[in-house]
Formats: sequence, structure tokens, C-alpha cells
Amino acid sequence: MAFTRRGFLGSLGAGAAGAAILSSLPIESFAAATMDARLAGMDEPVVILSANENAYGMFPSAAAVAAEALRYGNRYPFRAYGELEQKIAAYNNVSAKQVLIGNGSSEVLAMAARAFTGPGRKLIAAVPTFESTAAYARAHNAEVVEVPLTANFAHDLDAMLARTGNDTGLIYICNPNNPTATLTPRRDIEAFLRKLPANTYVLIDEAYHHFATDAEDYVSFIEKPVDDPRIIVARTFSKVYGMAGLRLGYSVAAEETTKKLRLYQEADNGNVIALLAGLASLNDDRAMKAAVARNAADRAAFLRECSSRRVKVIPSYANFAMIETGRPVRDVIGHFRRLNVSIGRPFPRMEQYARVSFGRPADMDAFWKAWDVMPNMAKQ
Ligand code: PLP
Repeated sequence: MAFTRRGFLGSLGAGAAGAAILSSLPIESFAAATMDARLAGMDEPVVILSANENAYGMFPSAAAVAAEALRYGNRYPFRAYGELEQKIAAYNNVSAKQVLIGNGSSEVLAMAARAFTGPGRKLIAAVPTFESTAAYARAHNAEVVEVPLTANFAHDLDAMLARTGNDTGLIYICNPNNPTATLTPRRDIEAFLRKLPANTYVLIDEAYHHFATDAEDYVSFIEKPVDDPRIIVARTFSKVYGMAGLRLGYSVAAEETTKKLRLYQEADNGNVIALLAGLASLNDDRAMKAAVARNAADRAAFLRECSSRRVKVIPSYANFAMIETGRPVRDVIGHFRRLNVSIGRPFPRMEQYARVSFGRPADMDAFWKAWDVMPNMAKQ
């Protein structure tokens, strides 16, 4: 069914007055820039392969609950909040006192940066990696030390350790790493943790956890915890659960660490739609497994297309992959954009790699069609 603006308003039950208000908003330009324009009822299709979202949407069970949840929009969602905290705790086998809900896992990254970095308490992070934690630390007047990944695109834990001292407040480890979709082996991280100063916290970002679960070297620090109060694990509903637009994430850490993070949490930071949809998502194990299996199939299809064209790809443990472009990625991004395909932004030290999120088969057809007509752009 086409998702038109009129249909959307109709399903909201908004009257003519509501329609007038909404039509005065820049919905058109917003949609063109950030949403799948076809879903938004635009004439011109735009294929979005740029933000590692779940292109198939939320789980149907969660979408149904989200639609219902609108009717509770007038009330503070205290009960839904408490229930989701309990559910996340039960789901992860921890106590509710170890769980903090975030407005997206971005808020968890922000809380960690604010709690554990600042003047004289630096952040150590890889490059390239997901940049938000470093941005929050800088805004908190902390020095940020960037350590390049290894040749295998793992975190260079030896080099990170070498840069660590008593002035290191936080180390950010993104596993699987965005943008490379690669893993840092669990045993290496464990050995690294044992060597860190007592006052250095470690934020392990498991945003892409579900896509890596069958990898030999990967075990989540929530599923197999180490008894260490300095570890904070971040998870999100934006990826496998397809809820990027609703904003929901959480952290799991020791109770005493959670208390320190909570000081920087926004009050009432969860909306009723996201909270109830999150609950429904955690209750739908079957949909989660189906989403993981579908991503594995989409990843395999992507690799087949790469191999038939001799395109080199970094082994992926996520819902996206990095491919070698053999030319400046900015030119490649521009080429795709002209053909209405949006791929990942440029990343430091990866000037000849493009990050491509896996979409639906039709999205990927559009991607490969555009790839196949890429002109011989100037090599670097
Ligand atoms: N962490 C990583 C590694 C990400 O790639 C992203 C988003 O792409 C986030 C965190 C932020 O996700 P959100 O705030 O939507 O939970």
C-alpha cells in the first residue's frame, strides 16, 4: 500500500485543520533528504542506503502497538517506562538497576562522555569509528585521542593501551565497528581490560550486536559479562528492530556505574510510542530472528554481486559493508546521489571506501545499476 501524506493524516484521524497545519510543514524536503521517498509518497524514488537502518521497517507487532500508543500521547509514560526497564533487564539477565533507557543509544553515548570525560579526563577512540562519543567528549572539553584501526580493521588495542594513562576517563570500543562492519576479538578486549588503569571506563557499543552473533570471535559483553564496574554496554532499537525514527536505546552497566550515568540522563527521556514499541519488539523473538536471517541473506547477496564484479569488500558482521571504490569516495557518493541512491558519508582514513547499508532487493538492484554505469572518475 502506498504511504501517502493524505493516507497518513487519515489514519491519524486528523481533520482538515490538522491537515492544514501539517501541509505547512516542510515534510516534502524532509522526506527527500532523510526518508525513503517512495514510502513518503514522493514522485522521485530515492534509495536510502546511508544510515544502516532496517529498510524493511519495524516488526509488524511493534508497529501495531506503536499505532495504538498514539492514544496515550497526552500522558507521561511512567508505567511504560518502568515496564520497559524491567523487560530489558529480564531480556538481558541483569537487574533493572543496571539498565538505563536512552533517547536512542546516542543518549547513552552522551551520558558516558559526560560522566567520564572532561578537562583532564580524555577519551580514546578508534578512527574511523562512530563519531558521536568523540563529539560529546569534545563538547565536554575533553581531549580526544584517535587511534587508527589495525590492518584488519579491528581496534588497535595495544596502541590504545599505549596512549592510556591516569588521565584517561573513557575508551570507546564499537563492536562490530561502524563504519567498517568489522569485529575486535573478544579475548583481545578481555586482555585489554585487565591492563587498564582502575579509573578508566570502557564504553562498548553493541549497536550491531544481532548481526554478529554467529561470528566465532564475537561474544556480547551483556550476554557474557565480565565482573568489572568500569564497563558500559550500549544497545539500540534503531538497527535490527527497525526503530531508528522512534529513538530508543539503553545501557547495561554495574549498578554503581549506572548511578553515575543517570546524573546525565534527560528527565522523562522516552516517548510512549517508542517505549511500547520497544517492549513489543523485545517480546517478538521470532521477528528478531527473521530480521537477522534476512540480513544474512541480503549480506550474502551483496557479497555475490561484489564478487561477480571483482569489487573488494571488507568482511561484514553488520547490516552494511565497506567496499573499495578505487577512486575518491566523494566522487562515488556524488555519482550515486545523481542517480537518486544515497550511500554512506566519507570516513577518515577510508578515502577510497564506500559504506553501503543493505536494503531491500529492489534497493540493491538500484545500487548495482548505478555502480555499473559509474564513469571512470579520476583516480587519486
Ligand atoms: N552507535 C553506533 C555504532 C551507530 O552506528 C549508531 C547509529 O548509526 C548509533 C550508536 C546511534 O544510534 P541510535 O541513537 O539511533 O540508537
